[in-house]
Amino acid sequence: MRRGRLFQSNFLVVAAVALAYFLCAVGAIAFTRLSGHVALLWLATALLVGALLTRPATERPLHIASCFAASVAASLAVSPYAPLAPVFGVANIVEALVAWALLRGLGVDARMFLSLRALAVFVATAGVVAPLASGVIPAITLPLYQGADPWAVWLSWAIGHGLGALIGTPIVLLALAWPTYRDRFIGPAALPRFVGVALLVSGVTGLCFSQSHLPLLFVPILPLIVATMAFRVAGATLGVFLIALIGAAFTVMGMGPLELIDGSDAFQLQFFQFYLAVLFLIAVPFATMIAQNQRLAASVALSEARYRLISEHVSDVVLTLDPRGAVQFASPSMREVTGHAPESIIGKSPAELVHEVDRERVREAYRQVIAEPERVHRFEFRGHTATGGIRWFETTARAVRDTDQAVLSVVTVVREVSQRKAREADLLRQANTDPMTGVLNRRAFQDRIDQFRANTPDRPGALALFDLDHFKRVNDGHGHDAGDAALLHFADVLRASVRVEDVIGRLGGEEFAVLFPGLSTAAAMAACERVRRSLQDARIHAGDTTFTITVSAGVAPIRPDLSSDEVFRIADAALYRAKSRGRNRSELAAA
Ligand code: GH3
Ligand code: MG
Ligand code: MG
Repeated sequence: MRRGRLFQSNFLVVAAVALAYFLCAVGAIAFTRLSGHVALLWLATALLVGALLTRPATERPLHIASCFAASVAASLAVSPYAPLAPVFGVANIVEALVAWALLRGLGVDARMFLSLRALAVFVATAGVVAPLASGVIPAITLPLYQGADPWAVWLSWAIGHGLGALIGTPIVLLALAWPTYRDRFIGPAALPRFVGVALLVSGVTGLCFSQSHLPLLFVPILPLIVATMAFRVAGATLGVFLIALIGAAFTVMGMGPLELIDGSDAFQLQFFQFYLAVLFLIAVPFATMIAQNQRLAASVALSEARYRLISEHVSDVVLTLDPRGAVQFASPSMREVTGHAPESIIGKSPAELVHEVDRERVREAYRQVIAEPERVHRFEFRGHTATGGIRWFETTARAVRDTDQAVLSVVTVVREVSQRKAREADLLRQANTDPMTGVLNRRAFQDRIDQFRANTPDRPGALALFDLDHFKRVNDGHGHDAGDAALLHFADVLRASVRVEDVIGRLGGEEFAVLFPGLSTAAAMAACERVRRSLQDARIHAGDTTFTITVSAGVAPIRPDLSSDEVFRIADAALYRAKSRGRNRSELAAA
């Protein structure tokens, strides 16, 4: 059933194309052979080219055969060269096949009127190369048959057929590849409007061509432009087609502005061909350009819609800033992430929401985004939330440029990263901390001393080194766990005995150190004595044993004239002295 319908509809298309071919051929031969040899406006080839471009491959041989038959029949019916009918038939079919093969080979399909490049290929192939190629056949045979000028035959064939292809093919494609070109025909008023535009073109052309007093050939351009603006490719091609039809009819009847030309009827019609070619080249590329722009606008609208959809539903804040840094757009998630209403920041600089400490750095980063628009920039900063809190944010930003490469705006995606920052801080703390006692490890302690000396080079300070006395004995006598308990206890003693700003570190084993920023050695010595006495007085519990331990300390001053290594060495020497003088004591470095 479906197969039958398909066959039927294919057969109908083949028959319709062949019939239209026959009528176009008869009309052209009967009415436009004014130069005496070949037709001056040959629309029939457009039908076969259109069918070959749009119909299924299996149908193509049928079209070729039936159009050949239609061509022969038309010649037999109305041409004075009836015996040459098969030769003209071959020339006509060759023309269509050359045009079709070239279009296919150059990657142009039925949508050719939607792209300027494809349109140029179409004009060059179907409008110029194919008619020149097929024209060789009549240019050889007609002079042999009747003694005509081969060059004149070739040229008038090429012009008449080329023009016919230019004007006819768009109409045929509109009919056969309708969905491609119907974009302007959406909406209830489309058809009446289309009819109205067609009537306007017909009416104006009819008025211009029904008189022979004024050279009004330029006037139909006006309704042609109206048709092109309103219906793009369909309007342009229909307009040129109507002007061709009506103009040709009046001219053939001996009326119209072409009568003002001082020359033969054939010369007048040749001028009319030239006129139509110019109209075609005004209207169709213009229509194609509008269609191209419309597709561009549609794709821009689509990407705009996609961008909106994303920016309105992502959990990150999307901000668009103008090149001066004022917010043009803020996504709704701004409220959830920062607490600020998105509309409250429109037209303002987002720097207002950046914490003072980071503000200048963020401004500089933004300048970088504009200075290097080709890359994606990422930076972090602290910002104020609406509730007065401070959060870490990460921004990914990129400049958007226009076709002249000028920065139009900057699109930024802002994400809250406080949790990540907290995790990072946690990791940093872990990397700096002795896991057993919780005080700084050796590397972190040394960094803190270097920082103290670099940041406040003139500020005095003191370094104390501690080493537990006879610690091996604790391990040996009470076990390793008891040793650990003693280390934990000593760390607690240190924490309890020094100020908040003093820095405690474990240098390794049972060796500890304290940095006393701003303290004289005498004050540091007093602190060490507090530590020492507090330790010696305490009983340490580990399992079911209790024991006491003592510590020795060496103190050195931190002064600009001493390097960190020297400070450590001097403190170590003092500690060594404390050990050798009997332990459980604090010694000050010899000055
Ligand atoms: P001195 O008074 O001369 O300092 O005697 P000392 O026994 O403390 O001598 P030394 O400093 O050479 O010995 C340190 C010992 O501390 C060696 C090691 O077994 C022990 N030790 C180092 N780290 C740890 C630890 O993390 N836990 C325990 N339980 N013992 C440790
Ligand atoms: Mg030791
Ligand atoms: Mg020791």
